Amino acid sequence: MTRFFFSVLLLPFLGFSQDAHDFDSAFLMGQKEDVISAKHGLLPQVEIAFLQMQRAAKKDSIELKNVSSYRSYAVQKRIWNRKFERFTNEGLSPEKAIQKIIEYSTLPGTSRHHWGTDIDIIDAQPSVEGDVLLEEHFLGNGPYVKLGLWLKKNAATYGFELVYTKDRSRKGFFYEPWHYTYSALSTEFLSSFIEENLIEKIAKDSTLLGSSYLTESFLNHYLEENIKGISIQLKE
Ligand SMILES: [Zn+2]
Repeated sequence: MTRFFFSVLLLPFLGFSQDAHDFDSAFLMGQKEDVISAKHGLLPQVEIAFLQMQRAAKKDSIELKNVSSYRSYAVQKRIWNRKFERFTNEGLSPEKAIQKIIEYSTLPGTSRHHWGTDIDIIDAQPSVEGDVLLEEHFLGNGPYVKLGLWLKKNAATYGFELVYTKDRSRKGFFYEPWHYTYSALSTEFLSSFIEENLIEKIAKDSTLLGSSYLTESFLNHYLEENIKGISIQLKE
């Protein structure tokens, strides 16, 4: 089923003719923007599923809003460099600054937001001041409690799974109740990223701040804990 799915539905969008698992490394690392829908920042297949889920949520009075989907390598690098500058200006050592960045943000080239499969979702109805992507909004009487429960119950019906779950055995990025992935595609992209050993290409960019601290052992650790530190629902 998977092979059929990729060859018929996905490969024409991605423009690949070779083995279905042989995804282009530029695509996997956020350097091939043309395959993503400009309007929603999602692959066409994912956009269809998201719009279906959005219609279903609306019937339950929840307005699913996609606040972040596709993010290019260049955008992720700006996020990284901005945080690196801020944390080192606040007095953290480069090593500590990097540890703090990777609580929530990825190294450019390794973001799941590079694939057009992952979305940060909020409810557009409650008005929330300031940063909308905070765990506290999903807790207690927070504005997104209803959204969180709805997604937990219904997202899988539309092919979406929470990635960074609240699970003590999971390492890497902190709990992100807003970050969902279209798992049929992203599972394949992650396997390809790992099989093609793309982690070795990270840190070769001299304009990435702190890149000299991204040693081989750091990157291997980051691969095991951060990139692979995802929901058990997404493990093959
Ligand atoms: Zn996200």
